[in-house]
Amino acid sequence: MPYTKEIFEKAQAIIERRKADAENAAEAKRRMFDSLEPDYKKWKNEMILSVRDVIKAIDMNPLDSPKFIQEQKMRNLNAQQEIKLLLRKNNLADDYLEVHYSCPKCNDSGVDGSHLCECHIELLKKLAFDEAGEKSPLKFCSFEDFKLEYYSDKYEKETASSPRDRMFSIFEYCKIYAASFETSTSPSLIFSGETGLGKTHLSLAIAGEVIKKGNKVLYNSAQNIFNELQKDRFSKNSDGQYEALILECDLLVIDDLGAEFPTSFTQAALYNIINTRINLCLPTIISTNLDHKELEEAYGRRIASRLIGEYSTLYFSGTDIRQQKNED
Ligand SMILES: [Zn+2]
Repeated sequence: MPYTKEIFEKAQAIIERRKADAENAAEAKRRMFDSLEPDYKKWKNEMILSVRDVIKAIDMNPLDSPKFIQEQKMRNLNAQQEIKLLLRKNNLADDYLEVHYSCPKCNDSGVDGSHLCECHIELLKKLAFDEAGEKSPLKFCSFEDFKLEYYSDKYEKETASSPRDRMFSIFEYCKIYAASFETSTSPSLIFSGETGLGKTHLSLAIAGEVIKKGNKVLYNSAQNIFNELQKDRFSKNSDGQYEALILECDLLVIDDLGAEFPTSFTQAALYNIINTRINLCLPTIISTNLDHKELEEAYGRRIASRLIGEYSTLYFSGTDIRQQKNED
């Protein structure tokens, strides 16, 4: 995935700080142990000297040098053992004075062999994702503050149910969907229905729960997504970072599809998002006021047939609950 220069620099600075923090923490512990156990300094010095003295073997009679080197080795091991005993006397772990890096794989250098370490890649992803998230901060919406009583409980003959009954089923489904969310197995959803029936609320509640489980979720209106993609596409110093995040995040929530002004760019962008994410088995939730027929009219048969074929549709019905809230 491509990243901006700023994200790389940010990540670099964080990794350097991690390393410095780990080393400073170890240094502070050593200083503390120094004052606690005056012998510690002596044995630490003995370790340093034993390593330094090995060089003397070079000028020695070749018959004597192996014995001398062995002695230095024993001297070093003995000093290590003495330090261990001092630590144990104070109920401290054997590795207490060592540097504890946050990533033992690369010792917080960010590099593993000739590659970026996993910790570095994870950090880049997180920073890029946070940056994209800032473009559409998630408003707080939860399942707890979703009010079913706003939906009429009047029985309707044609559906043999009431709007509240139907919303209850949708609400329960969304809760289960969020609780059991798995990137590779959760289906993609279309929330279809008129404005003001809770589509945004429930998609945000799902997003909130899925984020809590540690997934990378992007939420934005279709209009904003297309605007950002367009900026990305036509800007000279574009790096494609936003597009990559939209295509690769664990859950993408596209709000209010159909409210934007449709152009050939938005059609192509939408097809790319839907198609790529289906191929990568990554779930998407789309909320829209359009029904299947209107989706086909707005985006063409190719997109509509992928949506209808691959997404599960939840139909929201009733009367605008926002109006009812205002009347309360
Ligand atoms: Zn690492």
